[in-house]
Amino acid sequence: MTAKVIKPKHIPQRTCIGCRTVLAKRTLTRIVRQPDGVFIDPTGKLNGRGAYLHDQKSCWERGLRGGLANALKTTLTAEDRARLESYLANLPDETAPLNAESAQIVEN
Ligand SMILES: [Zn+2]
Repeated sequence: MTAKVIKPKHIPQRTCIGCRTVLAKRTLTRIVRQPDGVFIDPTGKLNGRGAYLHDQKSCWERGLRGGLANALKTTLTAEDRARLESYLANLPDETAPLNAESAQIVEN
């Protein structure tokens, strides 16, 4: 006899170290500290101390200014910084433009 146990779905939550918003883990990008540097971990499976950031430039920029190094308890080398900055360059500026609605010009 097999009884089906229905477990409540647990969604892992993580904090973006850029803006401190807590979100579902899969909406964030993991950055991991490895013995040879700090790397982006798109699979979320690498071993090492990890930190999470939103896929938006402002959060990465804030992270690079200190939050990331703090969270990973390390210092970013020039190489780490270059690697993260090249990733950052491909990210959107903001996920939601603030003036999307006010962009409509009303003429009298
Ligand atoms: Zn964020």
